[in-house]
Amino acid sequence: MQFDFDKQSRKKIIEYVFDKLEDYYSSTKERTTNPELNIKDIRESLLSQELANGIHPEKAIDHIINGLEKYSVHTPHPKYFGLFNPRSNYAGIMADLITATYNPQLAGWSHAPFAVEVEDLLIREFANKFGYQTERADGVFTTGGAEANLTAILCALNHKYPALASEGMFSIDKKPIIFCSQEAHHSIQKAVKVVGLGTNLIKAIPINSHLKMDIAILQQELEKLDYSVYDPLMIIGTAGTTGTGAIDNLVELNEIAKYHNLWFHVDAAFGGGAVLSDDLKVHLKGIEDSDSITFDAHKWMSVPMGASIFLTSKNDVLNKTFEINTEYMPKDADKLKVTQPFTHSIQWSRRFMGLKLYLSLLTYGWEGYEQIINHQSDMARYLKSQLLKNAWVIRNHTDLPVVCFTKEEFEQDPKFTEQIMSNILKNRKSWLSLYPINGISTFRACITNYNTTKIEIDELVNELNMEVDSFVTEMHPKHW
Ligand SMILES: *Cc1c(COP(=O)(O)O)cnc(C)c1O
Repeated sequence: MQFDFDKQSRKKIIEYVFDKLEDYYSSTKERTTNPELNIKDIRESLLSQELANGIHPEKAIDHIINGLEKYSVHTPHPKYFGLFNPRSNYAGIMADLITATYNPQLAGWSHAPFAVEVEDLLIREFANKFGYQTERADGVFTTGGAEANLTAILCALNHKYPALASEGMFSIDKKPIIFCSQEAHHSIQKAVKVVGLGTNLIKAIPINSHLKMDIAILQQELEKLDYSVYDPLMIIGTAGTTGTGAIDNLVELNEIAKYHNLWFHVDAAFGGGAVLSDDLKVHLKGIEDSDSITFDAHKWMSVPMGASIFLTSKNDVLNKTFEINTEYMPKDADKLKVTQPFTHSIQWSRRFMGLKLYLSLLTYGWEGYEQIINHQSDMARYLKSQLLKNAWVIRNHTDLPVVCFTKEEFEQDPKFTEQIMSNILKNRKSWLSLYPINGISTFRACITNYNTTKIEIDELVNELNMEVDSFVTEMHPKHW
């Protein structure tokens, strides 16, 4: 068995794959946005007998392409108005192919010095974009925002409790408390479970009428806390909540954090993309004074999953948190002033995640990104204007491309959004979701695809209008 195949076969295979991918990439819109979720059909479509001896590569590739075509929500589709999942840009796709082929090991510097230095350069570039002083900043690529948020909590703990690294949670005599808004991402809950704190130590602060963390309530909570039992650890502000795109007041959160000597983390997984636009970056004001930032390149920057960045303005904290001495890791770079990624990260063996961001930036430039970021927020503004023209109401307030809307006359009727949503998923022409705002269900559409134009938005609004008409007809059937 030749794992490598010969040159002729490799060429045939890659051209075969290329044709299939090209068909998908160049005509994604011809697909239905979402699959029928028939678990039986899906499981039966998988091959298990064939695992024993293998099959012809083209047959295997056909099988996989068919499976993905038929049984995926097509997040690269221009009418996927979904959950921050982008269409992969082409440079990012090429980067993943190159990464897989060279397979550099980014655990230690000396095994992949070019790759590690590329990631370090990007860490400095993004630290600079977010307004950190680069010489004092540090960071690491993570698989996603969830790992970056977990890293933030670990850093906050190790910064505050120097004995934690060796003595563990048992060395902490008071219970650390994490403040975030009720709209913060659920990965924070998961992170506190992972670090062994427990979800009861998250104080989820209610939101104000702008759907941002209510600062007055945060202050009350800090004042009335029983300091004999609890020890406030950190405030997590969200820059672009997943539900409504709200950006917490980062300036005020920072002031409160500094006053109480708390770590200030900003979860800018999606909204951080605004930093690349001169028009939008004002909304992130205050982020430059934070202790750490989560930023997902695999959201607004449209690189394939997973590529996220954890940044911190305290350049000793990642080492404090993750440093470990090993006998077997190569020592040839010990005398050089370089970052050893395995002492900076939850991960050990690490994929070259930074390449898809590097190649994308080298291909499109910051300028290309600024255009795309502005285009997507322009499209959201266009969507809002078309909705308002058609007597919809907008229920969120953000300049990020997330739009939550409903019809005022039906908003008390939970069947309204439910039934229309179920029809839209059955039509399979567009994908959007529902999100409750103050207990009232709204449609949520995010412009997450750089290829989405006014045409797709008009189609979405038409489809919604037609569904409203049939909802009304069903409610009040006309008797002729
Ligand atoms: C998406 C998101 C996360 C989780 O990031 P992953 O990349 O999915 O792990 C965390 N916080 C916010 C605000 C997000 O939008």
